[in-house]
Amino acid sequence: MFIETKEIGPEGLIVSRSIDAFRLPVSDQDSIRVDRVQLSGELQRDQDGFSFAGRIETALTLSCSRCLEEYSSPLDLPFDLFYTTSREGGARQDSRIDEEMATVTHFDGARIDLMALVSEQIYLGLPLKPLCRPDCPGLCPRCGTNLNAGSCACAEKRTEDPRLRVLKNLL
Ligand SMILES: [Zn+2]
Ligand SMILES: [Zn+2]
Repeated sequence: MFIETKEIGPEGLIVSRSIDAFRLPVSDQDSIRVDRVQLSGELQRDQDGFSFAGRIETALTLSCSRCLEEYSSPLDLPFDLFYTTSREGGARQDSRIDEEMATVTHFDGARIDLMALVSEQIYLGLPLKPLCRPDCPGLCPRCGTNLNAGSCACAEKRTEDPRLRVLKNLL
């Protein structure tokens, strides 16, 4: 899915697109499910490129790093990008763009790749340690029971054993 830069008039271009659900590869073997994406924003012509600010709204299916269950995580990502054909990275050191902390993307000048934009922004927005909920108790280290579903038989022993209590404090 692309936007041709010739569609961008002197007044700019309002962008509102939806992208079907897809899988985003996160490693050689692994990918995550991305729900239908709503991309909205505004493209503006600039002296040596195009500024594109907007937001990406979707939901991801992630695996909880504690209990390993899959859960849906809503995502609302603002982005602020600058597309340029200029390769002179050093020359724009003091420019307005750097002050605004926009991410500079080099492109061929003809069209903006929305799929690449969405994939990259979602990838950057992925949590390092996904949790189904902030206080997820995870799996019992002894028997592997998912403690979200209830306590296991190990629970009583665990509170009795002082060594495990020390360990629990460290966690
Ligand atoms: Zn969890
Ligand atoms: Zn257990």
